[in-house]
Amino acid sequence: MATLQEVLQETAREGELYEKLERGFVRCYACGHCCRIPDGQLGVCKVRYNEGGKLLVPWGYVASVQCDPIEKKPFYHAYPGALAYSFGMMGCDLHCGYCQNWVTSQALRDPSAVSPPLRVTPEELVRGAVQHGAKVVVSTYNEPLITSEWAVAVFKEARAAGLTTGFVSNGNGTPQVLEYLRPWVDLYKVDLKSFEDRHYRQLGGRMLPILETIRRLHEMGYWVEIVTLVVPGFNDSDDELKRLAGFIASVSPDIPWHVTAFHKDYKMTEPENTSSQTLARAARIGKAAGLRFVYAGNMPGRTGELENTYCPDCHELLVERIGFHVIAYRLTSRGSCPGCGAAIPGRWAADFQGQIADSPYLPRFQKFDRTRAVRR
Ligand code: SF4
Repeated sequence: MATLQEVLQETAREGELYEKLERGFVRCYACGHCCRIPDGQLGVCKVRYNEGGKLLVPWGYVASVQCDPIEKKPFYHAYPGALAYSFGMMGCDLHCGYCQNWVTSQALRDPSAVSPPLRVTPEELVRGAVQHGAKVVVSTYNEPLITSEWAVAVFKEARAAGLTTGFVSNGNGTPQVLEYLRPWVDLYKVDLKSFEDRHYRQLGGRMLPILETIRRLHEMGYWVEIVTLVVPGFNDSDDELKRLAGFIASVSPDIPWHVTAFHKDYKMTEPENTSSQTLARAARIGKAAGLRFVYAGNMPGRTGELENTYCPDCHELLVERIGFHVIAYRLTSRGSCPGCGAAIPGRWAADFQGQIADSPYLPRFQKFDRTRAVRR
């Protein structure tokens, strides 16, 4: 029986985000690790590898496909109510104990995290997105930076079909990968997990590349939203939240910041679940830092007004939500406040066309061939 790694390597192809070094080594630029990989070895992510002096990268499969409300990504300032056709491959460059997508992100590190891959082409994926009425196609579930070449292939098809594209990412990028993605990625969500480098090192990364990525994304014109999963005892001190929110505000006070509730998951079963009071405290800190759009997530209906969008100038209610459900939409066709006319930052449709779905669901897979059963 082939291993999962062997099955995935059957469809791998030469990547674009790398350079050849002396003595058969390669340097990968898909994520902030910038691995220098000898012939025959894998990168830290375990999905990109050096074979004969060439960097081979994942291609031609998905480990997960789902139709999600765009609010689940979460993007609150990009086409509210739209359906986000979401796909992911396997692997991650970090290893967060509280990962909520561990079945796909940790598939190559953790034997219990098996999610069978489905062979698929970019054309088939985009056809599925169009058939389901999606407006947006999103690379998510695993870390999309490490599978950037595949995402771009899918997004080229998506653009040709008139769809918007997005990344849901840990933000551990490089200047090279952001330049590579810029022509093809519209929306970019970053998980800013902490404002302590030692915390990032516990998760297998460094904080600096993530902060630099957030600055660059904003400068380069991606639409950026930031999420912080507030984990009690890990990143919920006033001091850390103040520094984190202050950093976002220094990039732009118009970047929406989502503070979301941790619930016990994967290997992190020790801290208590995040309370609504803690989310409210984090939101107050964000607003005091100057952020104009702060949202509470993962607690539908339990955080008062923190799920809604208000005009930062006249406080008119613009988008009313409960969880992923849009209750009311009042922006003008120009994406401005109907009360005072202030432009609201984001990517808005000319007309709100209602909400396609307010909960995730699986698209039908009859066109996709399952690979042979895979086990470690
Ligand atoms: S994607 Fe990141 S972890 Fe994977 S090989 Fe490239 S630099 Fe290393």
